[in-house]
Amino acid sequence: MGTAKLVVLGSINADHILNIEQFPQPGETVRGNHYQVAFGGKGANQAVAAGRSGADITFIACVGDDSIGQNIKKQLETDSIHIECIDAVKNETTGVALIFVNQQGENVIGIHAGANAHLTTERVNHYQQKIIDADAVLMQLESPIEAVQLAAEIAQKNNTKVILNPAPAQALPDSLLSLVDIITPNETEAEHLTGIAVNDDHGAQAAAQALHDKGISKVIITLGARGVWFSEKGKLGKIIAGFKVKAVDTIAAGDTFNGAYVTALLEGKNDTQAVRFAHAAAAIAVTRAGAQPSVPWRNEIDTFLT
Ligand code: ADP
Repeated sequence: MGTAKLVVLGSINADHILNIEQFPQPGETVRGNHYQVAFGGKGANQAVAAGRSGADITFIACVGDDSIGQNIKKQLETDSIHIECIDAVKNETTGVALIFVNQQGENVIGIHAGANAHLTTERVNHYQQKIIDADAVLMQLESPIEAVQLAAEIAQKNNTKVILNPAPAQALPDSLLSLVDIITPNETEAEHLTGIAVNDDHGAQAAAQALHDKGISKVIITLGARGVWFSEKGKLGKIIAGFKVKAVDTIAAGDTFNGAYVTALLEGKNDTQAVRFAHAAAAIAVTRAGAQPSVPWRNEIDTFLT
């Protein structure tokens, strides 16, 4: 295994998940039948996926100065992540997601950014040497966009690859897209970025081309159980199929894919091998419940692939 260094910059949330029969009406109180606090946030999920799959990873993020923030940092350390760039923000709460899940498995979610909103350009500047020294930086869109933009600028100037998972879905300025080397939207996110619906291979190809036209070398559009549309600038795009598994829930499938993909890429695997490695990691994650509890370790991915 190589010693390539990865920086993940992104969000940390505590997910409070309450299972109920039916969603309450305004003014109504309902009893839950199961309650769980799980650690989530796209940044943290992807950092955990990278750490467990074998990357040398430093996570730039913020928690609150509360006990859950302390617990999350401890947990991340056991997931093989360097935690010295995770700041505990004074007088702020750790980011939260309040999730109701009904009997049909549908969910309604309210989120509060809390400490995640404090991942400012000042903090990115403070930790810029980590980005300069890294081989790649992996980011998402649950952090202030100015921080993502600045981190991408620092990375590009210093020959650090920029991988952006543009989730949750939103349109982005060309000034950011032009700094990205590899982008990994799902179908909805690809449509938000390009205005092109990704309903079939033609749509995927057109959306990928629109992103190449912004200056992005590699576009990987994740297609759920179908796998991904993989496209390299100047070449014909293609499907790289995923693995067939019995899905329990697809929470954190995309996050696991991203973390594992970047790990494989930094180890020098070629594109197809790296995507297959990520498919295997994500396939294992969908056979298990929850976000971070479902993310596999390296030995599990290697076993799956043999
Ligand atoms: P997101 O969760 O971000 O919407 P996708 O649903 O596109 O992302 O899934 C990301 C990756 O997770 C896929 O490319 C694939 O590797 C894996 N995956 C998702 N759903 C399944 C499934 N039902 N069976 C096997 N693999 C899956």
